[in-house]
Amino acid sequence: MGEGPVEITPEVTADLLSQSLALRQELRDLYRLLPETRCRRRSLCCSLLPEMTLCEALTAVGQLAAMAPVVRMEVTIGFIRYFLMNSVELSSCPFLHGKDCRIYEERFFGCRAYGLWSRARYESEAARSRQAKEVSRRQWEQLRVPLSRQVVEFHLPYCTHVEVMGGVEVNDGLILEARDRLEALSRRLGFWHEVFRANYFADLSFLLASSAFGLHQAVASKFYLVRDLVKTGGRGRLARLMEEAPDVCAGLL
Ligand code: SF4
Repeated sequence: MGEGPVEITPEVTADLLSQSLALRQELRDLYRLLPETRCRRRSLCCSLLPEMTLCEALTAVGQLAAMAPVVRMEVTIGFIRYFLMNSVELSSCPFLHGKDCRIYEERFFGCRAYGLWSRARYESEAARSRQAKEVSRRQWEQLRVPLSRQVVEFHLPYCTHVEVMGGVEVNDGLILEARDRLEALSRRLGFWHEVFRANYFADLSFLLASSAFGLHQAVASKFYLVRDLVKTGGRGRLARLMEEAPDVCAGLL
């Protein structure tokens, strides 16, 4: 496979999609461990793309592949832009369309669990995520690219607006059990499950940007783009990359 981090190429993604049909069906069953919910402010929690397992990422890629070409390209470009820019600007999950989710029935575990955790558990998860962002901010600083604290320190507030349907009791134990089972399910994808977690930081936007430009080029483009933006405000590189972005999910099904 050559030097450098192992890459989930579009060919690998296509193979994983065809291998994971049964797993993706099991994923839908596991999602049902969490109760149906209703909320009053449906889109604020979509200000960030949640972390996910590889099995969930493949489900989303399958959804993308099945979209009409114009919509698929719009969403794909949204993901690539999200990856390139999320260190310097706050932008919503690329599946958000107005106040609706384009993949609501297949949305990720992170979306389903938000608003169900206890406040204490939610705050401890948020603290872990803040620590990871702080590590990333320091790495950028070492590269002489200071990031805005407003972006780095942004986190979703604890949500009290989710209503559980059908009077079902939810507690952290139930959510954690569902999360563990989701993780175990995705681990059945073997080696690639860990590659997605370790090399792509469980980030679908990274996977799609890497599919479009190659992993090394996606990371290098992000660095130069963020550096240009922070130092000069220049956005020319972003416009060129958006024009060059291929329809990476076309023909994957
Ligand atoms: S997948 Fe849907 S519900 Fe989840 S963050 Fe994105 S837009 Fe929101």
